[in-house]
Amino acid sequence: MSELEAPWWLLKPTEFWNQLWRKERKFFESADEEFRHGTSFVAVSSIAEQYYCEYKLENDFALGEIPTETKDSGTALHAELMPTERITREEFAVLVSRKEPALAVIPVWGSAGGLKVVGEPDHVIWAEGRPLWVMELKTTRGDPQPLWEDQENQVRIYGLLLDRMGFDCSKMRLAVVRLKSGDLRDEEKREWILKVSAALIQGKMSELEVKYRGVMKAHILEHSAERAEKAVRSKAGYWLREREPIPSTSVGKCRACEYNAVCPKSLYKPR
Ligand code: SF4
Repeated sequence: MSELEAPWWLLKPTEFWNQLWRKERKFFESADEEFRHGTSFVAVSSIAEQYYCEYKLENDFALGEIPTETKDSGTALHAELMPTERITREEFAVLVSRKEPALAVIPVWGSAGGLKVVGEPDHVIWAEGRPLWVMELKTTRGDPQPLWEDQENQVRIYGLLLDRMGFDCSKMRLAVVRLKSGDLRDEEKREWILKVSAALIQGKMSELEVKYRGVMKAHILEHSAERAEKAVRSKAGYWLREREPIPSTSVGKCRACEYNAVCPKSLYKPR
């Protein structure tokens, strides 16, 4: 927060929201293509991808995105599990200011690690104008137990941006929910987001995990602005053109990668 901005606790709700929209406009007006590949803003999902393989991101820019069945089915599943309805920002402000928890997502933005970072979390639970939970959903065909570095840092950076936007994040926690969604019935998919939200709010996630043993794992994290800032900073050199992209050292990742036939750094070449 800049020195000229009043913190949330000194502002009336209307002043807080007006200040937020003003700051948002100023942030996006500052676009000047200053980062690698002529980008003005760096997506949180791109930083997360750097944690998987930075060269994959470079290939995305150089060769264009290669569609895959996994990506397409993942996007369709996300929409099925977390249906959304567009509302105005005024409606958003009213909804999230209520005392009862509300589920609503807002684009997040802010400066971190020398970059201008933007993104949109999968899911946020609010009450009284404060984010209580930021959640990322990660679907998998394999074991949902492990938490990968890219997934952890993605949710951490969303939390950081909400903090930088000026929200009161003192009660905010983070969750990466990994789900083997192929094992859910259609009816369970429809109710899934409400069940997960209720479990987070009521502190009953372990009960839900027992019910969906082997199908779902919720990785709960404490918000730490310092850790999230560090996560962005450690990948910023690529965007600031201070260094070249670093390829993966894992044959397994290259084997699973859609660029393996064309990537000059691939450790696996399909026959
Ligand atoms: S083939 Fe390997 S090095 Fe190349 S982008 Fe894919 S994962 Fe990275």
